Order: sequence, then C-alpha cells, then structure tokens
Amino acid sequence: MTGNAEQLDAGLAALQATLGEVVSTEEGDLRRASFDAMKLAFPASAVVTPVSEEQVGKLLRLANEFGVPVTTRGAGSSLTGSAVPVKGGWVLDLSRMNAFSIDRDERVCVAQAGAVVAELQADADDLGLFYPPDPSSKKFCTIGGNVACNAGGLRCVKYGVTRDYVRALSGFLPTGEKVQWGRATRKFATGYNLRDLWIGSEGTLGVVTEITLGLVLKPASTRTFLAAFADEATALEAPFSLPRLGLQPSILEFLDQWTISCVEAFTGKTVLDGASGLPVLLIELDGHPAQVEESAGKLLGWLKERAVVHRVAASDAEAEELWAVRRTGSPAMRQLANTKLNEDVVVPLRKQVELVEFVHDLRVGHDLRIGTFGHCGDGNLHVNFMYDREDQKEAERARIALGELMKKVIELGGAISGEHGIGLAKTEFVRDQFNEAEWNTMEKIKNTLDPNGILNPGKIFHSFRPWEHVPVNETLPWEHQKEECRPVDS
Ligand SMILES: Cc1cc2nc3c(=O)[nH]c(=O)nc-3n(C[C@H](O)[C@H](O)[C@H](O)COP(=O)(O)OP(=O)(O)OC[C@H]3O[C@@H](n4cnc5c(N)ncnc54)[C@H](O)[C@@H]3O)c2cc1C
Repeated sequence: MTGNAEQLDAGLAALQATLGEVVSTEEGDLRRASFDAMKLAFPASAVVTPVSEEQVGKLLRLANEFGVPVTTRGAGSSLTGSAVPVKGGWVLDLSRMNAFSIDRDERVCVAQAGAVVAELQADADDLGLFYPPDPSSKKFCTIGGNVACNAGGLRCVKYGVTRDYVRALSGFLPTGEKVQWGRATRKFATGYNLRDLWIGSEGTLGVVTEITLGLVLKPASTRTFLAAFADEATALEAPFSLPRLGLQPSILEFLDQWTISCVEAFTGKTVLDGASGLPVLLIELDGHPAQVEESAGKLLGWLKERAVVHRVAASDAEAEELWAVRRTGSPAMRQLANTKLNEDVVVPLRKQVELVEFVHDLRVGHDLRIGTFGHCGDGNLHVNFMYDREDQKEAERARIALGELMKKVIELGGAISGEHGIGLAKTEFVRDQFNEAEWNTMEKIKNTLDPNGILNPGKIFHSFRPWEHVPVNETLPWEHQKEECRPVDS
C-alpha cells in the first residue's frame, strides 16, 4: 500500500533532509526520468542519483516507512516501460554508481549496477577475457538493467543470457536491509537460489547495487557468413541442421522476406545478388582459428546445398558489410511508419516456421506491415508491427493482431517475452502465460518480499493499456549513440 498525499510529502522532506544533494526535484531531471525507450511518460516526485550503497539503503528505508513507490533505473533503455514511474514516487537512478574491476585470474568482473555493459566488455577484452551477453543497447544500457531484465542479445545462441554469467548479486530489500545472493564462486549449492529469483524480476523484488559476473576466455578467431534461402522454412532448418554437423554458431540471425524487401527498398541495393527479396541468415563462427577453419568448411558445404546464394566475409570490412544487412532491418522499417511495436516472443525451435507463417497470415489478414527478424538459434524472434499512430483503423488492427500473436505464441508452448520483459507493455497478455497456481505463487513471492508494494508498482501484475497513452516525442541522453552502436534493435 503506497502512502497518502500527506505521507508522500513527509517522505520527500525526510529524503531531502537525509540524502541532500543527490535528491533532485528539478523539472528537467523529473522529465528525463519520466520515460524510457517505450516513450510513455509518467512524472516522479523526485529523482535520486546515489553515489553509495549506504544512500540506497537509506532511501529504501524511508520509502518503505512512508509508502513511497520506488522505480529503479539504469539507462532507461527498456522497451517495455519497465523503468517508468507509472505510480509516481521516487526514481532511483543508479547510473552514477558505475565503477567496476576485473580479476583476471578468477575471471570475474565485480561491477556496480550502473556500469555500462560495453565498457566492462572492452576492459575484459583488453585482458583476453570475454563477457558475451550483448544486447544491442550495450553501449548505453547498464549491467544492473541487464540483470533486472535478464537481457539477451545476438550471441546467446552459443553463450547464453545474462543469467548464465551472474555469480552473485548484492543489493537491498525494499526495507533497506542489505543482502547478497550467491557468492563470487564458481559453484553455490547453499540454500535457496534467490539470486536467480531477482534476475529478470524487473526491479520489483529488490534493488541490485553490485554484480559479480563470470567471464570466459576471448575467442581468437571469427568468420561471418550471409546466405539467402528459397523460403523461410529452409532458412529455419539451420538451428537443427548446423548442430547435427557439429557446428555451434556464435551468431544465427534470421530476417524474413518482408524485412529483406524493406531493407532493399531502404538502401536501394539487393542484399545478395541473385536473391532479391529472399529470407536471409547471418551466421558467425568463433573459437580457436583451426577449429573455426574446420567449422567454416562444414558450414560452406551446408550453404552450397541449402542456400540460393551465400557470401563469406574475407576481412573485417566485409564482415561489417554483411552485418549491415541485419542492422538495417529496424531503420528500414522505421521509414515506413511512426510507430514500431518490437515484440520479442520466443518459441521452441521447431515451432518457428509455424510462427513465421502465422505472422505472414496476420500481415495479409489484417492488412498490416509486419516484419520478423531475430535470434532464430534461440527461437527468439522480433515481430515488428509498423503503423501510423494517427491512423486509428490501422492502429486498432495492429492491436488486435498483437493479441492474436501472443495467444499463438502461448499455444505453441512459447513465451511472450524472451528478453525485454513485461514492464507495462505486456501486462495485458502476461496473465494468459500462467495457470492460476503459477500466477498465485508469483503474487505471493512479490507480496512476501515487498509487503508494502513499493518496488516498481504497476509492473508485471497490473493490467495497463499502452494504446490509451500518447508517447512523448523526446529523446533520452543516450539516444545520440544509437546509430554508432550496431542499432539492430534487439
Ligand atoms: C536500441 C535498443 C536495443 C536493444 N536491444 C536489446 C537486446 O538486444 N537485448 C535485450 O535483451 N534488450 C535490448 N534492449 C532493451 C534494454 O536495453 C534492456 O532491457 C536493458 O537490459 C535495459 O538496461 P537499462 O540499464 O537501460 O535499464 P532500465 O531501462 O533503466 O531498467 C529496466 C528495468 O530494470 C530495472 N532495473 C534497472 N536497474 C536495476 C537495478 N540496479 N536493480 C533492480 N532493478 C533495476 C528497472 O526498474 C526496470 O524494470 C534494447 C533497447 C534499445 C533501446
């Protein structure tokens, strides 16, 4: 239960008296903290940018005492509205707590929650180490935000998601009590695994302040391939056929025919000569040079048999050209309409063809513009609905089609989110993902760990209708970096 107006005012006064200059009620700061990459804005009453764990603990103690909602925030790059203070209260912005250090021998990185993912990846790389999870937002998103959403990315097909690298989490319960879940060890079989409960909980169960990440050895060699296939079903055989050949690609990305046509219209060039408008796979192999060479031979054999056309990058510059195809998918779609719903559904590998065919039928049946691309090695496909907000009929058709997509995904044994989380965007579908016992268990966990409901209220459990809100036409500080950062939009 959040507090009444009087309690909220008293809470803010106590916060200012306790934390001083790290508390801002300045209009510009409140505005920047009011929205994330989903671009729906809700005002907070204060933005707090702590520089120490002690300050985080003090803030939570006060919030709990006065019943003030707290929305923890990293970079605000969430695509689902999960970082938005939809119930007001305080935004706890951890971006200033961004230090990290790497222990080369233990192969761990200890990072404060606000550390930027690409920065710790670069330092690991200098030491011959590798932190594989690579959300496309890595140049600006924080490791705390990645943990809270269990972020994925393109290399998950070989290396796994954020969860697979988290050894320990330090942070605070909503009461302001300090906890550490897991330890900086390679194994941990001691008590309940609350570390994994916090991962992916979108800031609704606790506030993460420090993360211990396991690192792996950096692969010495990489080869990049791009291939076009006669149809989507043939391309989507790759997640089965390649492992049967003993191949484990580090990238296995799919772009459907509709997306490729968009890319070609946008760039004015065919993606691969002799294969205009055909679906495409971007494939990368990495590892020891001799092993990559041997795997490349097997992959080329498969491509000669199954693909219509293929290209192998002979240099970094050529690899960059092949990557450009994948990266252009989103910018090309954005030329078509002012609204892009980027869904991140995930289905069992063998259901992907059925999913892509279903999306095709949605496109035709509802007269919509929908492109599918993404991480087919994981069954995690981004289904992108493009429409103009002002065209109410088209927006309504997109909304109906989105509901049908979610229903189909659940029916296929999949999940409505593979990496972005629920936030506000998917609250109207999440209930259908779980049976009553599962849903009640999740609610009990939330109510037990956060009895006063102060942590990120309004997310996951409470139905929200995004289309009833008008998005803001403003940018966040990191948005100028988007173009430099392989903007593959997930
Ligand atoms: C261009 C673009 C590309 C993207 N590509 C990908 C992609 O490839 N893969 C992918 O998975 N996602 C992707 N995303 C989504 C987004 O970047 C990720 O969800 C990322 O993990 C969010 O990190 P953040 O620091 O911006 O967190 P925020 O957006 O600030 O917060 C996200 C959620 O985490 C919570 N949170 C943040 N920090 C903490 C903390 N320390 N303790 C507790 N809770 C916390 C917030 O309350 C919120 O619920 C993309 C987004 C954009 C804009």
